[in-house]
Amino acid sequence: MYRTLQERYPYAHCELDFDTPLQLLVATVLSAQTTDVTVNKVTPTLFARWPTAAALADADRTEMEEVLRPTGFFRAKTNSVIKLGAALVERHDGEVPPRMADLVKLPGVGRKTANVVLGNAFGIPGITVDTHFGRLVRRMGWTAEEDPVKVEHAVGELIPRKDWTMLSHVIIFHGRRTCHARRPACGACPVARWCPSYGVGETDPVVAASLLRYELAPSAAGSEG
Ligand code: SF4
Repeated sequence: MYRTLQERYPYAHCELDFDTPLQLLVATVLSAQTTDVTVNKVTPTLFARWPTAAALADADRTEMEEVLRPTGFFRAKTNSVIKLGAALVERHDGEVPPRMADLVKLPGVGRKTANVVLGNAFGIPGITVDTHFGRLVRRMGWTAEEDPVKVEHAVGELIPRKDWTMLSHVIIFHGRRTCHARRPACGACPVARWCPSYGVGETDPVVAASLLRYELAPSAAGSEG
């Protein structure tokens, strides 16, 4: 099933824009309760105005709130980003540490965020369990676990470690584009034949195809046919 999904979404990638581990860490914190597209709209201004952990730590709160306002919960997010900058300066000389044990001790950083940063900014394989990921792997029968850490370990047993980061992208792409929370497009799903939940969504192929979202990334339109 993983191989088939990878063929469907060969362009799967981290949809947050970033150049450095710090930028990815902050962008991931900002992505709570909003879309990656919205985060990508504010981060260029954020990182141009406050390019380092020290600058984030010393930021004028009101000014940062205005920049983060479009992402929602902007007061809490401003607070998180300033605290995160301060913790990085105090504990890690302003650098993002490339270790799970250090990352999860930073304010506002859980395993999900840590795995995003490790996998995409440091090349250290990580499985990113968010709500989409958990829903999908349960639907596909890969695990019955509900707890995100247990899901992470259960899926980690099934898939080679080197594939964990790509697996996370592929599953999240599948959730956003095909296996939607409310109305999955089962009739247009490449893993339908193996999926124990086939039929929870729309099975008519034509109707199901109309439910697909962002199915063809511009760069992949040629290869999808
Ligand atoms: S068959 Fe339906 S429930 Fe199963 S993975 Fe595909 S879209 Fe999701």
